[in-house]
Amino acid sequence: MSTFILTESKLEPAKAIYDFTLPAGDGWMHEIKRGQTFRIVDLEGNQAVDTLFYNAHDLSDRYSAQDTIREQRNIYLTTGTKLMSTRGNVLMTIVADTCGRHDTLGGACAQESNMVRYALDKRHMHACRNSFLKGALEWSGRGGQRLEKRDITSNINFFMNVPVTPKGELTFEDGISDAGKYVELEAEVDVVAVISNCPQLNNPCNAYDPTPIQVLIWDRS
Ligand SMILES: [Zn+2]
Repeated sequence: MSTFILTESKLEPAKAIYDFTLPAGDGWMHEIKRGQTFRIVDLEGNQAVDTLFYNAHDLSDRYSAQDTIREQRNIYLTTGTKLMSTRGNVLMTIVADTCGRHDTLGGACAQESNMVRYALDKRHMHACRNSFLKGALEWSGRGGQRLEKRDITSNINFFMNVPVTPKGELTFEDGISDAGKYVELEAEVDVVAVISNCPQLNNPCNAYDPTPIQVLIWDRS
């Protein structure tokens, strides 16, 4: 863990143009303009923040985990990572990170995967996929663009620890984040961000205890 390169930001929360605390388990959707800086704060530590990004001018041009991994030749996201879209555009660049590593392989929890991974009686439990769908279906984009079920694809799990073993196995481990850790991204184009502040109660990624996060946006200084 100590080998992580941690990068702090100089931006002051008091100067943010947007500041919102998202309760545990809730969803959030917002447009971030080109040149603006977007910060997600893990307020209490070890919260998984499932996130999708779209090009605001063309919602079918969306975050691509595969292209991001290939371009940077690394499976983890941290400072310097350029979040690539399905059409090869850079949507966001991570410019500060005090956690050190974020996952983009583990996917978002869903009612179906909860049943498979944990138990059949977990089906009723709220899952990230529900929050994504609710946000997507309620969103009205530029020019009347809509998001649909098929647009909910590979996501980022900020603050989530999903190490890959030497044998190539994915493991869901205790979080490496802590109270007050944050990740900060600069928008390279106008972007629509969708967050599910993971409601998961069966997975050590959030210490079985979903907690609130803070989202802030600054204009280009
Ligand atoms: Zn989840």
